[in-house]
Amino acid sequence: MPPPTPTVWTVRALLVWTTEFLKTKGVEAAKLEAELLLAHVLQTDRTYLTMRFDEEPTDAERAKYKELITRRLTGWPVAYLVGSRGFYLLNFDVNPAVLIPRSDTETLVGEALTRLKPLTAPAVLDIGTGSGCIAVSLAHQKKDSHVTATDVSPDALAVAKHNATKNNVAGRMTFLQGDLFAPLPAGATFDMIVSNPPYIAQSEFADLAPDVRDHEPRTALDGGPDGLAFYRRIAAAVGPFLKPGGSLLLEIGWKQDAAVRALVAEQPELELGPTIKDMGKTPRVVT
Ligand code: SAM
Ligand code: GLN
Repeated sequence: MPPPTPTVWTVRALLVWTTEFLKTKGVEAAKLEAELLLAHVLQTDRTYLTMRFDEEPTDAERAKYKELITRRLTGWPVAYLVGSRGFYLLNFDVNPAVLIPRSDTETLVGEALTRLKPLTAPAVLDIGTGSGCIAVSLAHQKKDSHVTATDVSPDALAVAKHNATKNNVAGRMTFLQGDLFAPLPAGATFDMIVSNPPYIAQSEFADLAPDVRDHEPRTALDGGPDGLAFYRRIAAAVGPFLKPGGSLLLEIGWKQDAAVRALVAEQPELELGPTIKDMGKTPRVVT
């Protein structure tokens, strides 16, 4: 049953009503999503909504909000509805050609920045850049770096380029379209290579949350029959692209630590480092 209707639809009343309504529909982050959608309609930032609690949005704004809530309830992820997602310290525009940036991936960015800090003008490569959330964050935080970002999807690469321009780092980035290392110029080497490759096993697609499975790009998720296809290929091919002493950082799925470490250990030119855990204490980045 929908919650009772208030007499005046202020920002506060809209948020309270929508939060309750989304909860009855089983939306987990109901309050956050109600806020993100209303902030989008009112062309403001979520954190500014509190200052506008007593405002009464226009009929047109309310109609727009209602339409977004309806689409949300058909399974569309909020980030695609509002066209952006915050990640690390920046905001990234997204569309259904790219994976929505995940907070888990901020673990990789944090570890990468710790390692980049002492280096001068490091060359960095991000394989499968998607929205560019990793590559652009690194270029933005490490001001003397040059970051090369690749993706097999031209549509994803267009989003990444847009995000680099929007965040004022495009001048220190190179974008290349193609399969893994194939688009790199001959002899290119890097101080650091990072990747959050597709890592969902084909057998596990059925268990994915419907929002993810039905709306996010399959090319961004499909890690082959066992989910490890990209780790296998990257570990086998990465050697010649790393400078001596360079780092390789790979985001992994929650139960892939042992398998990915074993794949890296098979390569005589790679030396295993620690696996970095995310905020939820899950192994998240193999180094
Ligand atoms: N780096 C982004 C992030 O962390 O949010 C996106 C990661 S998403 C899990 C994986 C990305 O790899 C997708 O953008 C996909 O298009 C790209 N990809 C898939 N197969 C690829 C391949 N063979 N070569 C290069 N990129 C590929
Ligand atoms: N973290 C994503 C998910 O669980 C998967 C991302 C990936 O395949 N690299 O939906």
